[in-house]
Amino acid sequence: MAEEGLRVEAISPIIASAPLGPSRRRYANAAARIATPLAPLVLLALLQTLETRFGRVRRGQRWGARTLDLDIVLWSGGSWRSKTLTVPHPRFRERLFVLTPAAAVAADWHDPAGTCTIRHLHARLTRPRPTPR
Ligand code: AMP
Repeated sequence: MAEEGLRVEAISPIIASAPLGPSRRRYANAAARIATPLAPLVLLALLQTLETRFGRVRRGQRWGARTLDLDIVLWSGGSWRSKTLTVPHPRFRERLFVLTPAAAVAADWHDPAGTCTIRHLHARLTRPRPTPR
């Protein structure tokens, strides 16, 4: 990855998750903490090139089966919002299959939209709740 301008600092274990939407495959999920001088939109373009290299074909179907899906979840620069990129990823707070691996590589990173760390967001989703009577 060094030749791409990415330095991998940490990689999480891989966890399996059920698909969202109509796809019938199960997915392997992981998170990496990377250091890069690339600007967010350049990084997004690079991730999409890597997806294509791994055989992903974009068919315009939102939750279609895919060979590889690379998302930018958080950025040390805080928030980013443009037509093609929103960081933090808009749905990461409610996805255990994102928060579990993310907590393994960046537990103390803050959600720029609030005061929570990834550890807090993960605990919120996994906290035991009283069963309804
Ligand atoms: P996906 O089907 O999950 O690969 O996402 C489709 C589109 O989401 C991409 O083409 C991106 O332009 C857009 N997108 C918006 N925010 C993000 C993000 N944080 N990480 C990756 N893709 C994003």
